Amino acid sequence: MSSAILPPVVREHCAQCQLPTTVCLCAYVHPQTCPLPIWVLQHPSEASHAKSTVPLLRLALPELTVKVAEQCAPPKALTEGGWWLLYPDESAVAIEDIGRTANSSAELLIKGLIVLDGTWRKTRRLLYVNSWLATLPKLSFSKAPAGQYTIRKGPGGQSLSTLESVAYVLQHVSTDFSAEPLHTLLAQRVAQFQKFGHKK
Ligand SMILES: [Zn+2]
Repeated sequence: MSSAILPPVVREHCAQCQLPTTVCLCAYVHPQTCPLPIWVLQHPSEASHAKSTVPLLRLALPELTVKVAEQCAPPKALTEGGWWLLYPDESAVAIEDIGRTANSSAELLIKGLIVLDGTWRKTRRLLYVNSWLATLPKLSFSKAPAGQYTIRKGPGGQSLSTLESVAYVLQHVSTDFSAEPLHTLLAQRVAQFQKFGHKK
């Protein structure tokens, strides 16, 4: 056997964060209780994307539900009301505007959140195929900070990644929630991309 033939490269993955061991992020993961149920409806074309922030979001919020499908049945709890769809369009209510009046804090009004994950075209597709999404009030941001995940645009081409978008909503919904561990995790991931290039 020729020594020139090299065995296939086997990349070992961390059992906890599922990332290749060379880029394991476990040291930066500080899981928190999710203040409200969140469903991420992820388009299948997004699921295998190395730059998706959803795997990081899952590490930070273990209770997060991620559905990878083009078509998906609504969460059972949807019938209880108070669910919102994070989707910036002209009918959306800015989260910064919720809670301005005495009886309508974001904590009281937002009981569940659906987040669409994919490119602008794919999130529109998800919205079209899953007609139950149209029954939900839409939530957006008016004063969101600039995203730090500059290597990739977020849902619908927004400047905030999915992870940052969810962190921003949760900051408004619960005073117990801290966005900092999520931002730290993302910053580490960005640093890895800058160090290792476009590999995972
Ligand atoms: Zn790990």
